[in-house]
Amino acid sequence: MLTTETQSSQTGRQYLPTETTAPNQSLLPLTAQVNPYDRLEVGGCDVQDLVNQWGSPLYILDEETLRTACRQYRDTLYSTYPGESQVIYASKAWSCLAVCAMVGSEGLGFDVVSGGEVYTTLQAGISPEDIYLHGNNKSAEELKYAYEQGCTIIIDNWLELHLLSEVATENNPAQIMLRLTPGIECHTHEYIRTGHIDSKFGFDPSQLPEVFTFLQKHPQLNLIGLHAHIGSQIFERQPHQDLGGVLVNWLQTALDYGFKPQILNVGGGLGMRYTEQDDPPSIKEWTQTVAQSVAKACEDQGLDYPKLICEPGRSLIGTACITAYTVGSRKVVPDIRTYIAVDGGMSDNPRPITYESVYRAVIANKMSAAANETVTVAGKHCESGDVVIPDARLPQTEAGDILVVMGTGAYNYSMASNYNRIGRPAAVVVNQGESYLIIERENYQDLLRKDRLPDRLVRKSQ
Ligand SMILES: *Cc1c(COP(=O)(O)O)cnc(C)c1O
Repeated sequence: MLTTETQSSQTGRQYLPTETTAPNQSLLPLTAQVNPYDRLEVGGCDVQDLVNQWGSPLYILDEETLRTACRQYRDTLYSTYPGESQVIYASKAWSCLAVCAMVGSEGLGFDVVSGGEVYTTLQAGISPEDIYLHGNNKSAEELKYAYEQGCTIIIDNWLELHLLSEVATENNPAQIMLRLTPGIECHTHEYIRTGHIDSKFGFDPSQLPEVFTFLQKHPQLNLIGLHAHIGSQIFERQPHQDLGGVLVNWLQTALDYGFKPQILNVGGGLGMRYTEQDDPPSIKEWTQTVAQSVAKACEDQGLDYPKLICEPGRSLIGTACITAYTVGSRKVVPDIRTYIAVDGGMSDNPRPITYESVYRAVIANKMSAAANETVTVAGKHCESGDVVIPDARLPQTEAGDILVVMGTGAYNYSMASNYNRIGRPAAVVVNQGESYLIIERENYQDLLRKDRLPDRLVRKSQ
């Protein structure tokens, strides 16, 4: 039994995963266990052994948790929505070949937001019909690339409508959807809120008549659906319940203009548990809400059920991954604070410094030790704000201990940088006692790969 404070809230409720747990409600990956050496195991692999083998810091991605999340989304949508449905993974949360391959093998499609994500997804073997290109400022090259590959393009603004209409032909029309701003408020961080009217994303719904008139004159653009996304890390179900009605109203308007869009995409945004205080609905609860709200709105208006798409990112992959760091130096500021530093920080996880995101940690080689110390876990970057976790409750630690931060699957690797010329960590997938390298650790040569030194700057030896 884990006794660290991170595993139980003030109410004493345990958050150890069980088989019925929704991945997005579990702090640790579903396969997490404490082995007889008092060490954390994930996917049947001892975390300390993984660090010994692959180095530190290390992203450790649990295949079972990721696949379980995919299946819960897919199966719930399939069983509760009366029409056709598809779950697509918002791959900006973590885009790399292995993640795309695993998610694709569960039958999910992909939401991508750049030419680079289109390329990654295609290289992972995903077929273009399952790829949807988003973004609020796609370049002409990105639009052309996605169109030529046969991906669906979610049009965000007038410029994109014009650019794509110049590239696409009537013989081979571009498959497009329209992104609209639904004007739905939800309580999440300002930077990750997208559904309110004052957002950089999407058309204002008042522009719909003009857009439809444009599309009527441009048969090279084939309108196949409508899309909205209201934000991220959302714990309320009401916004998505409201969204169903809003989307179906727009669908009705499109029908009135003579279009026959077959797809409604409700976006993603379901939250996940980073700390025991976080209380998101389960994947099943959220998916049922979405399915029922769209189905009911269609029934109320007497419309056929469109194909329903949802596109989760964070809640699909966030809790499937942990980051293992090695503890280094300690600084005691008497009567104020004790810092312990780890061998990574804002370059492998920029979320704390960007969004003040809060994480929880355990010491992987001291799982049953009582959490009797409050320390601030600092990163190793030259930035005072590079704090991984302020005021963490942890057992006594010493240099060499393995500190595991939980819930790092979403927007960690994908937002990682080389700040301070620190190479990005390796990532492994764990499954049934085996570990597989999916991203190589960056070494010093990698850091110089794109550097060029003009001859005139080369220092002559004296
Ligand atoms: C980011 C994003 C998502 C996924 O959001 P999550 O909160 O990670 O589920 C889905 N759709 C669009 C258009 C997005 O920009």
